Amino acid sequence: MTSHLDHDEGETKLVVPDEVQDALRTLLRWAGEDPSREGLIDTPARVARAWREYCQGNEEDPALHLSRTFEEVGGYDEVVLLKDIPFQSHCEHHMAPITGKASIAYLPKNRVVGISKLARVLHGFARRLQIQERLTAEVAQCIWDHLQPHGVAVVIEAQHGCMTGRGVRTPGVGMVTSRMLGCFLEDERSRKEVLSLMGY
Ligand SMILES: [Zn+2]
Repeated sequence: MTSHLDHDEGETKLVVPDEVQDALRTLLRWAGEDPSREGLIDTPARVARAWREYCQGNEEDPALHLSRTFEEVGGYDEVVLLKDIPFQSHCEHHMAPITGKASIAYLPKNRVVGISKLARVLHGFARRLQIQERLTAEVAQCIWDHLQPHGVAVVIEAQHGCMTGRGVRTPGVGMVTSRMLGCFLEDERSRKEVLSLMGY
């Protein structure tokens, strides 16, 4: 992806190609709007920039956040858990927002990472068009592959704009997905322990 930057009012703004803005005007017309009315004049460019942000993860490799590990774990052999991390993603079927929280845990073997890195991995995969099941699996697999721990557990609870704002219109309904690897998959006691730490 190429990015053209324009310096405007001291702020760096992405220049949005005409064809992208035209496409958004077409969508506005399709939705029954008049794209030439005052309130919508700058909307196509804003929406286009917003979408580059929503999908920023397409330009990054989330695994890079796990490249700097600490091998000295000081004999620590318990679960590391980052709980209730808020995130936003967008569903690939409707491009509607997915808003939720994730709990990510791993049982280190000999590598740990700075705790904020787990959230960065989550956001790297969330800032793309997603389905919740794949997001859950990708986060878990990335940690599994790069930290090579005894186990990984990821639980994601989210609301889908495509369910709450259209279609069956059921606000408040959350979807829960989980992916367990290693000891959390194979050993029921470990799984129960990590789920209870997460509050499930
Ligand atoms: Zn959807």
